[in-house]
Amino acid sequence: MSAVCYPRSAMADTIFTKIISGEIPSHRVYEDDLVYAFLDIGPLSRGHTLVIPKEAAETIDALSDESAAAIGRVLPRISRAVLKATGAAAYNILQNNGEDAHQEVLHVHFHIIPVFEKGAAEGAGLGIVWSPRDFNHEKGAALAAEIASLIESGS
Ligand code: AMP
Repeated sequence: MSAVCYPRSAMADTIFTKIISGEIPSHRVYEDDLVYAFLDIGPLSRGHTLVIPKEAAETIDALSDESAAAIGRVLPRISRAVLKATGAAAYNILQNNGEDAHQEVLHVHFHIIPVFEKGAAEGAGLGIVWSPRDFNHEKGAALAAEIASLIESGS
C-alpha cells in the first residue's frame, strides 16, 4: 500500500498519528491510502468504531477535500459491516470538532456508534440531549445567504 505524505502542520502528534503508524496498537477494521478505521477502546456500545483520515487535521474544517472525500466514500461500507457484525439495526455517526464540542483527540475522527436497547449488555449507544430553539426566518435567511456566499467565495 503506497503511503500518502501530507505537509506537517504545527499541531503536535496525537495518539491517532501513532495508531496510524502502528506505534500504538489498535483493532483495525479498515485501511486504505487515506483512511484508517479501528475499534474505539472506550466504546459507548459494542462495535463503536472510529474512522479517521491519515491526514493529521485537527478539525473537519481543516481537512483537505481529498481526505474528506476518501472518508465519505468508505463510511457507508464500514457502517454496513459494523451493523452486520454487531446485529444493531440503528447507529449514530458522531464527529466532534473542538474541545468545547467534546473533542478530546485533536485529529479528525468519525465515531460509528451502534444503538442497542437501553440496558442491553452491548451498551445502549450515544445519549443525546437535543433542545431546539425558536427559528427566526428573517435572521435565518440572512445567515443562510452569508454562509452561502462564503462557500461560493471558497473561504
Ligand atoms: P472524541 O471525544 O470525539 O475526541 O473521541 C475520542 C475517542 O477516542 C474516545 O471515544 C476514546 O475512547 C477514543 N480513544 C482514545 N484513545 C484510543 C485508543 N488508543 N484506541 C482506540 N480508541 C481510543
